[in-house]
Amino acid sequence: MTTAPLMIPRHSPCAGSGSAPSSVSVSEWIQSGIPLAPFTTFRVGGQAEWYCEPCSDLELRQCLGWARSEGMPVTLLGAGSNLLISDAGLRGLVINTRRLRGIQLLEGGKIWAAAGEPLVNLSRVAAKQGWRGLEWAIGIPGTVGGAVVMNAGAHACAMSDVLVEAYILDEEQELYRLERQDLHFGYRRSRLQGSAWTVTGATLQLIPGGDPAQVQLETQRNLNQRLNSQPYHLPSCGSVFRNPETYPAGWLIEQVGLKGYRIGGAQISERHANFILNRDQATASDIHRLIRLAQEKVYQQWLILLEPEVRILGQFDISS
Ligand SMILES: Cc1cc2nc3c(=O)[nH]c(=O)nc-3n(C[C@H](O)[C@H](O)[C@H](O)COP(=O)(O)OP(=O)(O)OC[C@H]3O[C@@H](n4cnc5c(N)ncnc54)[C@H](O)[C@@H]3O)c2cc1C
Repeated sequence: MTTAPLMIPRHSPCAGSGSAPSSVSVSEWIQSGIPLAPFTTFRVGGQAEWYCEPCSDLELRQCLGWARSEGMPVTLLGAGSNLLISDAGLRGLVINTRRLRGIQLLEGGKIWAAAGEPLVNLSRVAAKQGWRGLEWAIGIPGTVGGAVVMNAGAHACAMSDVLVEAYILDEEQELYRLERQDLHFGYRRSRLQGSAWTVTGATLQLIPGGDPAQVQLETQRNLNQRLNSQPYHLPSCGSVFRNPETYPAGWLIEQVGLKGYRIGGAQISERHANFILNRDQATASDIHRLIRLAQEKVYQQWLILLEPEVRILGQFDISS
């Protein structure tokens, strides 16, 4: 049995000073049965059994400690831009990091950001200073924490090119400073995927001294290029599959005739076949079935197993 109440919390942890009143126990602002679809860019997924939005590292630790004391699993949510959450929802505690915000410009072109800070903000702040190194990040709708975990990247650059150190809480809420080589980065991979570690923030090394107007122009150019080539206006998770070394995933999906194919309310994009779109009140199950279909067809024709880049969370029925 858990000790958290079944009611909406009496205190918002972020009211007033930006942190929970010390007299209020963490269990009083953990909510139950919160729908997760609004917190994902796919706009699908069931409810979180338990849910919270800490506003500080202290509150984050309290949430992790509560889950540990209750013996329940924890799922971290950034901007939900690379998540497919099951229609059945998620067991345990879902921690949304969106209130863990803050950016600090440090000496020598270093920039620190809290885990819940949108990557887009970081890219804009850096560009405004004339600091190079994050022009690629402008169109990625994730948080700093999610970008570290996923080693997000674009335009032949990625987090692993700029990350100096990430601050991590382990299962026992011990804080660690991990350097780039500790994170075992690869293409859209890091050792944090599938681990029980929580990113609280990261420091990046950028190149200071550039012309702000020029860096901002380049950043905007990258955004425009994206808006012109990808279906940004519809709910998706960006690229569903990692690109195999041989051929781009989108091209392979196109070759097997699935461009535009629909299951329920989900559709493989006609514009970019590595995107699945929530066209019309899709369920997570619709999207999951399209993912499996694309994998099957591509494997049959090309003997290539497409590997999802999207993180698939919760239970899915694989018999349908
Ligand atoms: C339109 C669109 C375009 C996209 N384009 C790109 C692109 O060009 N390049 C690219 O790489 N990606 C792209 N993506 C995918 C996505 O934006 C990135 O993978 C992003 O880094 C995910 O960040 P997030 O905060 O949304 O993480 P989420 O999707 O919320 O989570 C991703 C994973 O990280 C974990 N996680 C999140 N925060 C933390 C934390 N603080 N501590 C520990 N674990 C955490 C989650 O549990 C999950 O396993 C795109 C997505 C969309 C919707």
